[in-house]
This record gives sequence, structure tokens and C-alpha cells, in this order.
Amino acid sequence: MRRRNLLLSVPALLAAPARAAPALPVVASFSILADMTREVGGPAVAVRSLVPADGDVHVYEPRPSDLLAIRGAALVVTNGLGLEGWLERLLPASGTTAPVVVAAAGVTPRHMAEGVDPHAWQDPRNGILYARAIADGLVRVAPDQAADIRALEQDYARRIAETDAWIAQEVATVAPERRRILTSHDAFFYFGARYGIDFIGVQGIDTESDPSAAAIAALVRQIRAENITAVFVETMTSPRLARTVARESGAVLGGEVYSDALSPPGGPADTYLKMFRYNVTLFVQAMRGG
Ligand SMILES: [Zn+2]
Repeated sequence: MRRRNLLLSVPALLAAPARAAPALPVVASFSILADMTREVGGPAVAVRSLVPADGDVHVYEPRPSDLLAIRGAALVVTNGLGLEGWLERLLPASGTTAPVVVAAAGVTPRHMAEGVDPHAWQDPRNGILYARAIADGLVRVAPDQAADIRALEQDYARRIAETDAWIAQEVATVAPERRRILTSHDAFFYFGARYGIDFIGVQGIDTESDPSAAAIAALVRQIRAENITAVFVETMTSPRLARTVARESGAVLGGEVYSDALSPPGGPADTYLKMFRYNVTLFVQAMRGG
């Protein structure tokens, strides 16, 4: 009898673990926060990203299904720092009573001429603070899962710190005077400040429209005058401008990097940590001269 009971109990355990509670529905504003929330929440959460992979969180237009997802969520995870203006209207409209995590609440914000720079996740040390804020929010709505969530958070923080150390090592292989990159969107100032890379934004050109020949010529002059070694564009913006100025200035066109959105699953940057591995490999290659 004893033996038979044991045999029966094994598949029963596999099918229904003792701690199986229904996964908490969590809504994250964009794909990077959704990935972080999955890391920290593990099997305790079912995460939905409002802005899809490869989407532009700055100009997102919410769909009716987003409203329903927020209404049904146990927790809402946002970046804050003014990134998700559209969400500030959506949250009250949804009627949600779920707590809202502001993942960037603990970071030291950087300021630009236009206001606060929201791209704080691009410094992995901030990523650790994000993970902490998300874990705090999850523990608040699922206190019975606190031990598991804290263990996952600690493991994730350790892996983020490892990635940070790896990036510092990689960047150290580039001569300091070559660490100058032009990007089409000002998303890498936190990253640049962390690793000693100058990211220079495109001056005087609206990247949404077709630049004039005079504007392109001005940009080529800027690249030469500022000794910029590499030009990058983001996955979500048109590569045409960067391609033109790289060709005419002699800077290396570094390819597409991920700043505000992950790639779809199976793509080269489908997690926060893979995004760093992918971007840094391209940045370092381009700064060394292609
Ligand atoms: Zn951005």
C-alpha cells in the first residue's frame, strides 16, 4: 500500500504543486518592465505589456483592450519620470483600484533641456532599483509569495550586477577618445554616464521627417567637428538619416540598437539583460572602428 501511494502521489505533485495559486494578472506599461516583472514574479505572475515589443512607448496609442487589462490587473507597473503620458489618462479611465508601481521612483533622475530624462533603465544599477520597486509592489499584493519573490529579486539583481561588470569590462577595451556615439534618439545618457561614453544627439533635425540636404550637410559637419566615431539608430526610428550621414561623414554606422523596447520573443534582445549584451557588442565594435 505504501508503495502504491507513493507512485500515485508523484504525478499528482507534478500536476498540482502544493503552492499553486492562480497567477496574478500584472500589467506593465512597456516590454522592458514586463520582462523585469516576469523575472521578479516568476510563476506567481501573468504579465501583459501594454506597448508591444518593438513599440514606441513615447507615442503609444492605447487600445480598448488595454483598458480592460488594466481594469483586471492586480498590479500596474510603470516607469514614471514622465515617460508614459498616455497612461496618466488611461489609469483613471480604467477604474482600476490596483496599486501602481513607479519603477524609477528610487533612481537619481538626469535632467535635459527638455526636462527629466526618463530612460533610467539604461543604467543597470538603476535596473536593480527597478527590480526592487517591482518586488515591493508584488509583495504588497501577494504577501504569501514574499519569500519566493524576494529570492527571485535577489537572483535577478545579481545577474544585473554581473551584466554591469561585463559592460564596464567591454567599454574599457575602447580608447576613451573614441567613446563618442551619435544616436537618433536621446535614450542613452544614463548608459553613457555609467560607462564613460559620450552620446551625442542629432542636432536640428526632426527624425520623423525627411531631412533636407542642408540639414544632412550640417549633421556631417557636426560629426566631424565633434570627432564622433559611430552613428546608431534605434529599432523604432527610420535608419535612412543615419545611413546617409554615416556614409558622408566617414563615421561607422553601427546598426540598430534597443533603447525603449525589447525585440519580440526569439529576437536578439528579447530580455532586459540580452538587450545590454546586444547593444554593447554593437557599440564596442563600432567605437573600435567597425
Ligand atoms: Zn525613449
